[in-house]
Amino acid sequence: MKNLSLKQKLTILYTVLMTVNICAVLAVLFSLSNREILSSVQNRLRESVTGAFDDIDWEDGRLDFDSDILELENGVYLSVYDMDGALLYGKIPYGFDQSMDFRDGQVRRQKTGSVEYYVLDMSYAPEENVNLMVRGTISITDAEESFRITLRLALICLPLLVVLTAVLGYFMTRRTLRPVAHITETVLAIREEEDLSRRIGLGEGRDEIYRLASTFDSLLGQIEDSMKREKQFTSDVSHELRTPLSVILMQCDALLARDGLSGEVREEITVIQRKADSLSRMISQLLLLSRADQGREKVTMEILDFTGLSQMAAAEMEGIAAAKGIRLETAISPDIMVRGDETLLIRLWLNLLQNAVTYGKEGGCIHMGLWEDEDMVTGYVEDDGIGISARDLPHIWERFYRADSSRSNNGSSQNNNDSSQDNNSSSGLGLSMVQWIISVHKGTIQAVSEPGRGSRFTFRIPKEKKS
Ligand code: ADP
Repeated sequence: MKNLSLKQKLTILYTVLMTVNICAVLAVLFSLSNREILSSVQNRLRESVTGAFDDIDWEDGRLDFDSDILELENGVYLSVYDMDGALLYGKIPYGFDQSMDFRDGQVRRQKTGSVEYYVLDMSYAPEENVNLMVRGTISITDAEESFRITLRLALICLPLLVVLTAVLGYFMTRRTLRPVAHITETVLAIREEEDLSRRIGLGEGRDEIYRLASTFDSLLGQIEDSMKREKQFTSDVSHELRTPLSVILMQCDALLARDGLSGEVREEITVIQRKADSLSRMISQLLLLSRADQGREKVTMEILDFTGLSQMAAAEMEGIAAAKGIRLETAISPDIMVRGDETLLIRLWLNLLQNAVTYGKEGGCIHMGLWEDEDMVTGYVEDDGIGISARDLPHIWERFYRADSSRSNNGSSQNNNDSSQDNNSSSGLGLSMVQWIISVHKGTIQAVSEPGRGSRFTFRIPKEKKS
């Protein structure tokens, strides 16, 4: 029952209830009409027997019977007996047991072969000392026959009625639950497309489902508003922070350009400059992501030489990797063209390569590859560094998410003012941006990783066919 849909459950319930109802009504109707039929048969019998008294006369010292007695009026056989039980006049049904004793005024049942009869005996004295017994016999089987036909018909119709009820019930339930299916479809679409502007929009209605839909719609409106406010807030904050940070960076540059600074002071200013620089990059990323959320980020799609662009990104990262003693090995196929945004695609490679350097093993190796098949371009970055635990892996695409291992890594680096960490400007935003870039290019990306052995990020985007 648990696996059945609400529609099926309601149809079954409705059919069972209707069947029970129909059966109960039929049972009551048939029992009442059966009783009615039998009592009318008994009345007919009594009327015929008493009516027969008028057809028996005593004339000139002998009995005279009217031939009406033989007429089987109302289907009643009439027969007249003397008090010794000898048949004087009348008709009896074929095969009827004549030895049956007489009981004055009492209707009894008597079965002969397959036919059942009502029998009524009534004494009658047409003359003093002339006592007769008038017997009426009527077949109950005949009277019940028509009733039985109706009953048989009802039994044949019942399964048809049940099927009809089930089919009608199913369609009615489906119609009633159609708005529920619409609500589910809309909610699923909102989840899949992350489009909070969609509404169920069932319109005006007074039943519970319509009320539920309009409650959902107003809730969606509230969520959309608060999401918009949050995005606007992030965007505004990022924007506002940019100006003071630029001032700090400019002041650092100006200070460092001065002569006569002691080595210690110069080192301290450099630390401030690095931190401010890393903060500035984080804010730029945040601003870009919040603009992307609001659909305000301008994306320029053009046909690009992805091979050349990837080689540029590799060249840019080679030195940074080498500073950590990491080799960068590339396997980039020639002449790969894609339709995309140049800045974003370079950002994609840089973010993946930067992560590979940051979380890679000192003295290790990073592999970067790019090739194409019939429709798609596949790129990957693989390192042999700390890896990502299965628990963290599904969350690395979330904004500001940083796996525990990288946090502790960062923590120690921050204490040491390690320059490589500052270069990375570890923010937990890099992969969110990668994911957004991939979605803009209608591609897919996935990460596989084994803690302690390294990670591999593979993306696929549609390729631009060479004409
Ligand atoms: P971050 O700026 O912290 O690197 P990202 O969004 O780029 O932010 O990455 C999110 C988290 O995913 C990182 O903090 C790190 O824990 C994990 N991660 C990303 N790339 C790698 C990698 N190549 N190896 C190990 N962990 C990684």
